[in-house]
Amino acid sequence: MKPFVYDLTWEGWQQWMKENGLPSFRAGQIFDWLYVKRVESFEAMTNLPKALREKLEEEFQFVTLKEIAQQKSKDGTVKFLFELGDKHAIETVIMKHSYGNSVCVTTQVGCRIGCTFCASTLGGLKRNLAPGEIVAQIVKAQQLLDAVGERVSSIVIMGIGEPFENYDAMMTFLRIMTHNKGLNIGQRHITVSTSGIVPHIYRFADEETQICLAISIHAPNDALRSKLMPVNRRYPFADLIEACKYYVNKTGRRLTFEYALMGGVNDQPEHAEELAQVLQEIPLCHVNLIPVNHVVERKFVRTPREDIFAFQRILEKHKINTTIRREQGSDIAAACGQLRAKHLETSKR
Ligand code: SF4
Repeated sequence: MKPFVYDLTWEGWQQWMKENGLPSFRAGQIFDWLYVKRVESFEAMTNLPKALREKLEEEFQFVTLKEIAQQKSKDGTVKFLFELGDKHAIETVIMKHSYGNSVCVTTQVGCRIGCTFCASTLGGLKRNLAPGEIVAQIVKAQQLLDAVGERVSSIVIMGIGEPFENYDAMMTFLRIMTHNKGLNIGQRHITVSTSGIVPHIYRFADEETQICLAISIHAPNDALRSKLMPVNRRYPFADLIEACKYYVNKTGRRLTFEYALMGGVNDQPEHAEELAQVLQEIPLCHVNLIPVNHVVERKFVRTPREDIFAFQRILEKHKINTTIRREQGSDIAAACGQLRAKHLETSKR
């Protein structure tokens, strides 16, 4: 299969030109057509010689993201189900905030991590996305926003899949997104979220980027976390906390912990106290409490509002900065993987 045009970084295009005996400024022209003018064919790259356009056509392909479903929430969130060239379906979400448009991207078709509260993992992992297929989600979102004169201002890698299980593609995607000759999204406006793949937390800390990291912790101890997230059996809680400490010390950046509150499971005052104790060890951190989304195939129920506030008060009593995630798109099955799961179910019938 031919590589995607969006697979190559700026440096990758420079290298390709060199290997093909072409001047390096052509790389800049291609980057401009792809990410500034956002054209979708080689034919449209009118300042490139015909021979070069033909060579590109022979060697690369554009990503086809066919929209198969779209859901719009009252709060402006738009969720897309896209079909890839091989018919697999992925989700991409555009969220409207007061500070701009944030896009949540998918990095894998399905997921093998098996978090018990998540719809994305129900059918297991089908395959990793190529870097270009992750990039295409942002280009598509930007094309849609172009129509209303707006731009993608931030990115969260929190869609379907565990990004650290597709590490190299994720890093290539980040390099393309943040390049100043392309979409030029600020590194501090990008967040990568992991379920806790410990070796890659160390690796990511050593990348020396300004990109934000979020850890899906969801439990305050080893036993409960193993029940909710099988990944904890492979990378135990204590090892995860050690890796988090390394990340903060190495980068000097604040780490976010995502904690999905599940009624009667991990949302009791004693859980908040235990979590506060654990996080005392991490000097720069922040907890984002997420009222769990209801997933039909799963049994979890929502924590009552007053209990969410009580949980927050306990963490704050221990001087842990805590926010409650604003619910977005709750009227449109906005939890990760729900739209895709529904689609898979329908296509089986
Ligand atoms: S929460 Fe993320 S890591 Fe866990 S199963 Fe779902 S997609 Fe995979």
